[in-house]
Amino acid sequence: MRINNSNDRVHVLDAHANVWTVITDIADSGVQEEAFYVCDLGDIVRKHETWKAFLPRVQPYYAVKCNDSLAVLEVLAALGTGFDCASKGEINKILDLGVSPNRVIFANPAKPSSHIRHAAATGVSTMTFDNETELHKVKSLYPDAKMVIRIRCDATDAQCPLGMKFGCDPISDAPRLLRLARTLDIDVVGVSFHVGSGCREPLVFNRAIASAKNVFDYGFTLGYNFELLDIGGGFPGDHGSSISEIARVINSALEDYFPDAAVQVIAEPGRFYVSSAYTLACSIHSFRDVISNDETTKHRMYYINDGVYGSFNCILYDHQHVVPQPLHELAGSKYYSSSIWGPTCDGLDQVVEDVLLPEMRIGDWIVFENMGAYTLPVASAFNGFPIAQVHVAAEENIWDLFKDILPLTEEHLIMGNVSPNLKMDLDISRDESSIIQHLPI
Ligand code: PLP
Repeated sequence: MRINNSNDRVHVLDAHANVWTVITDIADSGVQEEAFYVCDLGDIVRKHETWKAFLPRVQPYYAVKCNDSLAVLEVLAALGTGFDCASKGEINKILDLGVSPNRVIFANPAKPSSHIRHAAATGVSTMTFDNETELHKVKSLYPDAKMVIRIRCDATDAQCPLGMKFGCDPISDAPRLLRLARTLDIDVVGVSFHVGSGCREPLVFNRAIASAKNVFDYGFTLGYNFELLDIGGGFPGDHGSSISEIARVINSALEDYFPDAAVQVIAEPGRFYVSSAYTLACSIHSFRDVISNDETTKHRMYYINDGVYGSFNCILYDHQHVVPQPLHELAGSKYYSSSIWGPTCDGLDQVVEDVLLPEMRIGDWIVFENMGAYTLPVASAFNGFPIAQVHVAAEENIWDLFKDILPLTEEHLIMGNVSPNLKMDLDISRDESSIIQHLPI
């Protein structure tokens, strides 16, 4: 591994290095005290290749809310994805990268008026709705918008269900809303849904796509000719997860219900692209032993330098289950029932309730994989504990691909093997990405 001198938070990996090597080097350097992330750009690039292989008909519009770090956005912009933005701020972030407004969907069915005006001013014309008031707002603020009706179809099991807040009933509500849109002379161009974030029921996509087809058909009776199907999010992104089963269901449902290639199919994956790309390392600054009254059992409480007010907000808001892995384990270590706690004064600040861990000491590091989704954008520095900083890592061949788009230094750049597909994608999107000048971290 070589580290760029001018910016020691960018790590170019040679054949002997990986994310864990980077973490070990930083953690064992003797100077690192705060928690830190390593973001593996290659992981994001490989996810994109996986997406294209499994879902060739579906264009990904990355859900910015999931992780709005500039490194992620710039890599995805360069790879040519679209973006799902939920607010004026997210729209600005994407347009500032030089991404064209027609690569953005404003996928929030209940938007503040000022945000609709901003979409109109910036030319982000495709946006979702699921209620009457939104149609009236759009009629007065952005009458030329291209509207996408969001219907409800919930997975029977999802990490974060969304249907209780968004999506109109496709049978009892959608026809009425479409008739109102027609009366208001609003251009409705398609149908969207979100089955729930962290979907654990792949078959729901068949139900949802069938339901969307019925809404397409109803729209046709009103004189609409919808051209866009947005299948939302719900795709897993952890190490070891796969989208193969979900993709099989989606591809087969698209063949059954939307055989016409003229219908553009998009999705809004967030978690899929970033979850496994980020690994978090935290260090132990205190511990406490709780001994049973009869002194036969010991429970150890570890206090680490990130917690639920920081990166581990994902435990509260995203219902994540995080898995601690000691960075080093001494041979012959004793194992104890252990809990892990964040650094703040709040009793709620618990990261892991009960897990068997080898005995560790102050200054030892605990690593958490799959920390890229719904972590950093929500983290706060409550109680004066800083938000974990990000180090960026990339294999040489990946770094080489991004050198023109995200130039840092020339010295890293040694050409490696590049998949022809990826090379083509980058070439195609290079013009639009040319104003992406650097890789902020
Ligand atoms: N699109 C919308 C409208 C969302 O609300 C979300 C997540 O809440 C996403 C996309 C991202 O979906 P996921 O978290 O399943 O990747």
